[in-house]
Order: sequence, then structure tokens, then C-alpha cells
Amino acid sequence: MDLALAPPEMQRPGLSGLTPGMLVAWLAERGEPAYRARQIGDAVWSGKVASIDDAVPLPNELRRQLTESFRFDTVARTEVTLADGGLTEKALHHLDDGALVESVLMHYPARPSASERHTLCISSQAGCAVGCPFCATGELGFTRDLQTAEIVDQVRSASRRLIAEGRRLTNIVFMGMGEPLLNLDRVLPAIEALNDPHRFGLGARHITVSTSGVVPGIRRLTALGPQFTLAISLHAARDALRDVLVPLNRRWPVADVVAAAREHAAATGRRISYEVVMIGGINDTEADAEAMVALLRGDHAHVNLIPMNAVAHTPWRASPPRVIERFAAMLESAGIQTTIRGNRGQEVGAACGQLAAEHAGLPPAPAVARRRARLVAESAAALLGERSHEPAPAGVGE
Ligand code: SAH
Ligand code: SF4
Repeated sequence: MDLALAPPEMQRPGLSGLTPGMLVAWLAERGEPAYRARQIGDAVWSGKVASIDDAVPLPNELRRQLTESFRFDTVARTEVTLADGGLTEKALHHLDDGALVESVLMHYPARPSASERHTLCISSQAGCAVGCPFCATGELGFTRDLQTAEIVDQVRSASRRLIAEGRRLTNIVFMGMGEPLLNLDRVLPAIEALNDPHRFGLGARHITVSTSGVVPGIRRLTALGPQFTLAISLHAARDALRDVLVPLNRRWPVADVVAAAREHAAATGRRISYEVVMIGGINDTEADAEAMVALLRGDHAHVNLIPMNAVAHTPWRASPPRVIERFAAMLESAGIQTTIRGNRGQEVGAACGQLAAEHAGLPPAPAVARRRARLVAESAAALLGERSHEPAPAGVGE
């Protein structure tokens, strides 16, 4: 977005997107000492105050300039909906230009083998250009990249709610709306802020970034070293089917994605997570499991099988549990660690792939019906092994 054309609110960056160095430099330009950066940073990151006025004893003129130059919070308003008996909270965030994004907070109570966890799933873009046909966000299309502060402020919103209850956020996953590796220039500084002990202070092992397979982005992450866990949305091991399920496979085929993931595992020593949405009759056959075994055997990898959550615009449904168990057993017997993931938040459209902000739950329009028909035809061809003739989605390859 061209900031000169943006609404006035959008022209002021969010404070949480600034590095301490940037804040110190901004203060120095105004003849202010560096310790003020710590004061302002504490107000931003403590989760205890709703505006800069509530916390920091700043001189009036500096406070005026600060408010004129930056927003304390880039999220204008958040509506929270509860599901799963309060264990899942879907937050709909209204951004200043009217864009809507969602984040989902999941509470996992303590068990004898594990302490309690509070995991937040955040969005990196409003909408998504990749257009996976089983994903409600993909159906929306792409609206815009989120700014660094807009990514981080979803985390501050959840953290404030947790702090009020005497709890704290333990894990962050970039598995909400959008493809994080198509917005890396904003996502990387956000991760740095979440990771920095002087800012949000969450350990690298507690942050997971999921990608549908943007190979140049994976390589960029590899060059940075072990910063977080990488998850790859695999969904199919054969190109013909993956062309349909993850349209950017037409640009970066599955072998290249897995090769980049392998290099990442070798360079960082971190295990790769592969995500596979299990769609009945589409990608859950024995032949699919065999192809996945052939692709991943011997790798330092873990496969998560996720029963597909219902979305309005596809005729597809989750594979039956016994089919998923058989698929898992085939991977396991080849030595590939596999888990079957439980679903959360389905009743409020907060489960994986259901995040579509204002569009969630709408009945299929005629265009959606046409899309369903095309999808059935495309996947029938793919199941016969034919690769797609469609180009990669616009805005994806460079
Ligand atoms: N764009 C990135 C990150 C966001 S999607 C990516 O695709 O990896 C996060 C996860 O939700 C992905 O693994 C995606 O495949 C999964 N997902 C999407 N639609 C789903 C659905 N209908 N049911 C279950 N999981 C879904
Ligand atoms: Fe985009 Fe991920 Fe949804 Fe695919 S699954 S459309 S990449 S958000």
C-alpha cells in the first residue's frame, strides 16, 4: 500500500513495530535521552496499559510528538468469541483502514506430563494470494500485507487478556490468515520483537512459522539460523494433486519445497514439521501415503495430520478417522513420526482454515458454486495424475 495515499491513521506506524534502536534514534533527533526508549518500551510491552498516557511520565511536548508520529496500538477494536467451553478464543481485529484479521488463542490445561500452555495463532496478511481451495482465507483472495506492528499487536491483544487473568502466552504460531513467507520483510522484524528478551521475550522454540512452500523464503530463513520452528503445509506428495491443493506448487514443485526444508533442517538442526490436511477421497489414499513415505523417508521430520475443517465453498469433507489412522500407521511404519491433530474452535469458525473474517459462514453464492464445480473437475484430473495447466496465482512467484 502506498502510504501517501493511506488514510491518516495508517500513516503513523505502530510503536510495537519499532526496534529499540529506532526509538532511541527518534528520541535523539529531538534531543531526548536514550533511557526514555526504555520507559516507552515498557509501556508498549508490559501489557498493563491501554495508552501511552496511562504509564509514562513524559514531558508534555514529547508525549504530543510521540502520539503524532506513532500509534500505541494498530488494532482499533477487537471482538472476542469463545468456543470449546472457553478453551478457544477467536479474536476479530479491526485495523485502522477497515481491514479485518483474526487470531485464535487456545488454552491447554496442565497435564501430569506437561505444564499449561496458551498458544496464539496469528495472521500475517489480510486475506491470502495462494488460494488453497480447502481454506476459507484462500477463498477471500488477497487484501494486503500486515505491517510489523499489526502482526505484533495481535499478540499484545491476547497477552493483555491473559495477563488480566494472571496467565501468560507460551506459544505463537503463524498459522492464521495469510502466507507469512510472502510478507517476510514485515514478519521477520515481528519475530525479532517477539523473541527479544527486552521486548516480548518469547523463546525461539516457542514460535512456529508455517508456509505453503515459498522456496526463496525458506532459503532466506535458513540463512538466518535457528530462530523458530518451520512448518510446511505439504498436503500432497505428488505434484498433480498438490498443484490443485496448494496452487503455488505450480511455481515451486513439491520436490523443491522438501529439498529446501531438508537444507533448513540440516543447517539449523531443527526438525521440520509437515502439515497435511486430510480430505476424504482426495489426498488420503494408500497411494498418497506411499508417495509421502517415498518423499520423506529418512528425514528429520514430523508429520501432523489435520482432519479438514468444513469451509463453505468446497464440496470436500474430512477423511473418516479410520482412514486417517491407517494413513498415520503407514507413515509410522516407515519410521516417520506422525501425530493426528485434534481440531479446535470449529463452532465459531476459528479452526485451521476457517479464518475468513467477515465472510465466515456465508452461504455459497453462485460464484462459489461454480468454483466448487471447477474444483471437482480439477481434482478428478489430478487424481488421474494430470498436472494443472493453470498458472501459479498472481502475486505469488517473483
Ligand atoms: N499460509 C500458511 C499459514 C497459514 S494456514 C500455510 O498455508 O501454511 C495454517 C494451516 O491451516 C495450514 O497448515 C493449512 O493447510 C491449514 N488449513 C487450511 N485450511 C484448512 C481446513 N479447512 N482444515 C484444516 N486445516 C486447514
Ligand atoms: Fe493461504 Fe495458507 Fe490458506 Fe493456503 S492454507 S490459502 S497458503 S492461508
